[in-house]
Amino acid sequence: MNIQMVDLLGQYNKIKDEINARIDEVIRSSVFVKGGKVIEFEENLKNYLEVGHVISCGNGTDALQIALMALDLKEGDEVITTPFTFVSTLEVLALMKLKPVLVDVDSNNFNIRPELVNRHIDHHTKAIVPVHLYGQCADMESLNEIARENNLFVIEDACQALGTEYHFRNGMTAKAGTIGDIASNSFFPTKNLGAFGDGGALFTNNNDLAQTMRSIANHGMSKRYYYQQIGMNSRLDAIQAAILDVKLKYLDQYVVARQTAAAFYDHELAGIPEISIPARVSYSTHSFHQYTIKVPEKRDELQQFLGTKNIPSMIYYPLPLHLQEAYRYLGYKKGDFPVAEELSEQVLSLPMHTELTTEQLVYITSAIREFFS
Ligand SMILES: *Cc1c(COP(=O)(O)O)cnc(C)c1O
Repeated sequence: MNIQMVDLLGQYNKIKDEINARIDEVIRSSVFVKGGKVIEFEENLKNYLEVGHVISCGNGTDALQIALMALDLKEGDEVITTPFTFVSTLEVLALMKLKPVLVDVDSNNFNIRPELVNRHIDHHTKAIVPVHLYGQCADMESLNEIARENNLFVIEDACQALGTEYHFRNGMTAKAGTIGDIASNSFFPTKNLGAFGDGGALFTNNNDLAQTMRSIANHGMSKRYYYQQIGMNSRLDAIQAAILDVKLKYLDQYVVARQTAAAFYDHELAGIPEISIPARVSYSTHSFHQYTIKVPEKRDELQQFLGTKNIPSMIYYPLPLHLQEAYRYLGYKKGDFPVAEELSEQVLSLPMHTELTTEQLVYITSAIREFFS
């Protein structure tokens, strides 16, 4: 059986004609950077998210950087985030000479713990960057409250959570990425909404920030060849926008496909005492960018065993960011974030994509049962 972590070709094959036609339109128009297709996609995504502004850019890492640039922070200002995330979150803080202040994550839902954020706020703190890891939201309502009390910005790293829904205590709902001041998103091919190359976007309901970010993403330009601020060259290609616009129509379906596969995994794996299936929080749906189990003992042996059966699996992330060589200068050491460190030795992400068949899921879960029997 041919099982992949992510089956992008299978997904494409189902909408091939539609995608090819749109790519063809772009080529005929010869407008490859910015232009109508990009504006159309931004508009459609804005309507999907019910958010004030969508500003496309080159990738999810740039999106975070553009957000931070728009906040007009000074060198040495502190930004609180977690060590258990993709490197981008920390990388852009370092590039901008801001001071990352890391706090540990929750061992069940893998996301930042608001009470720890609270404990690390001082007069240098300017922003919080929660990451909606694996597709489930961080506790945004608590984080927003902390931010309001301390006059901080909240930038959601929503790169793994497009299509996830947040549930407020009062019963209202909102899409992940529309809850903080700004959100960054990535259209990396394997993300919930993936392009055929790099792409990214910013979401915000703040008109001023939207205008500033749009300008920063395009060299800090106000009108053509007049520059108001230092910017970047970070734009979404028209071909990528055209592809994303087609796939956006299927995003909810894709999320349901992921959730269905997750429910199957849950059902088959919940009875295995050596494994913890992903915990669900009350305030968020889960779009299952990843289906990540915890295996306290023999995680690596399980991964190897699955490999012998041609079942891929991945460890996101094998070394927390505070222990990475590049970030040693921050002065953190082993033991500083025990949960993140423990998770890096326990987590295992199973194949998760929109094209998983029951047959494949049976094969994968049977192999896991066999390993523990
Ligand atoms: C993918 C990802 C990014 C970076 O996105 P790119 O488009 O690859 O730059 C940032 N943060 C998280 C949590 C991600 O998963």
